[in-house]
Amino acid sequence: MGKEIIWNAGDCNRTLKAVRPCECGCDFRDGVSGVGYLTGSNSDGDGFTIWIENEQVYKLLETLLGSDDTVRKKSKRKKAK
Ligand SMILES: [Zn+2]
Repeated sequence: MGKEIIWNAGDCNRTLKAVRPCECGCDFRDGVSGVGYLTGSNSDGDGFTIWIENEQVYKLLETLLGSDDTVRKKSKRKKAK
């Protein structure tokens, strides 16, 4: 049930990342919902968005892409010891 969206002439050089949907709901304009999405683009502004519906997959992506907030918090706690 996931959905892949390809766009052109959008944001340039968008770093590959896992993102949570915007809280105002603007990310659901096509009726697509999920726990978040994977997105990125090249220097020409050609990019993609892939909706993720499985929380576990999203968490793994965050971890693999180094954007997991919970991991950062845990490492901070260790340093603060
Ligand atoms: Zn929004």
